[in-house]
Amino acid sequence: MFEVNNRKLLINEVATRDGLQNEASFVETDDKVALVDRLSALGYAKIEVTSFTSAAAIPALKDAEAVMQRIERAPGVVYTALIPNVRGGERALECRVDEFNLVMSASETHNLANLGMTRAQSLRQLADVSALALGVNVPVNISLSCVFGCPMEGEVPEDTVLELVGRFAAMGVTGVTLCDTTGMAYPTQVQRVCARVAQAYPELNVTGHFHNTRGMGLVNTLAAVQAGISQFDMSLGGIGGCPYAPGASGNVATEDVVHMLQWMGYDTGVELPGLILAARELERLVGHELPAQVSRSGDRLIHHAPPQGFHEIRERALARDAAAAK
Ligand code: ZN
Repeated sequence: MFEVNNRKLLINEVATRDGLQNEASFVETDDKVALVDRLSALGYAKIEVTSFTSAAAIPALKDAEAVMQRIERAPGVVYTALIPNVRGGERALECRVDEFNLVMSASETHNLANLGMTRAQSLRQLADVSALALGVNVPVNISLSCVFGCPMEGEVPEDTVLELVGRFAAMGVTGVTLCDTTGMAYPTQVQRVCARVAQAYPELNVTGHFHNTRGMGLVNTLAAVQAGISQFDMSLGGIGGCPYAPGASGNVATEDVVHMLQWMGYDTGVELPGLILAARELERLVGHELPAQVSRSGDRLIHHAPPQGFHEIRERALARDAAAAK
């Protein structure tokens, strides 16, 4: 059953990293900075600004330093960035990022395919990068991919997920993000895994990251909320593709999720009208239609004018009653 209350949920925006890195066209640095500044005013808990990957690996985010240095930081917002390795971490520290977001996959095949390393190699690298950040009191979050399934291996054992999260906790990280990287999760699985992780590692801040690849992004988000998860990644306009299902939609769209949660009574802190305007601006920047729905359809109580000729329809309908009454 759905609980109804005004529980506080924290919303992380990932469009500027997870989203833009998958876009074919390069969004100009000025436009990225303006977009982040605009998002900063909307009530997010966290914004994933960029990625300190090499420019050759992800040309779309080759301006990481410039963007990070030029954004105007709003008080209370955590400005995080994806950090692939120690070199990226050093670059990020020079730009004073608020948090390191590190990545690895719960699936050995996906980790090799995506990062070119075994999971054991990734764990060693994550330990080095974490030590760099924690040594200067910068908090670390680890985003674990393929928690709910791998497009190449199929099911990922829940015990593997639990064990990896345990390794992260032992490194001293602050948070872990459970990522449904290719939209394989389903609600009862989400509830079970989220509850197990939260129970086993109460000291960790657990974030949910869901994709809409199979249309289950919203319901999986809700399942995680009901399992006690209070922080979520989402992407404005739903940008951010899925490399294993070309053309499929990617991240859950911020405006779609916020719209649902606010009507259910949750306090997301994020302002929907501002999100819708920002999504339209994002659509202009990337130059194609976005998969999100609420930025097109509007809030559920948006008023539409009745159709043409409505006055006459009404007059005719009322005239029938008057004729019948004679
Ligand atoms: Zn994603």
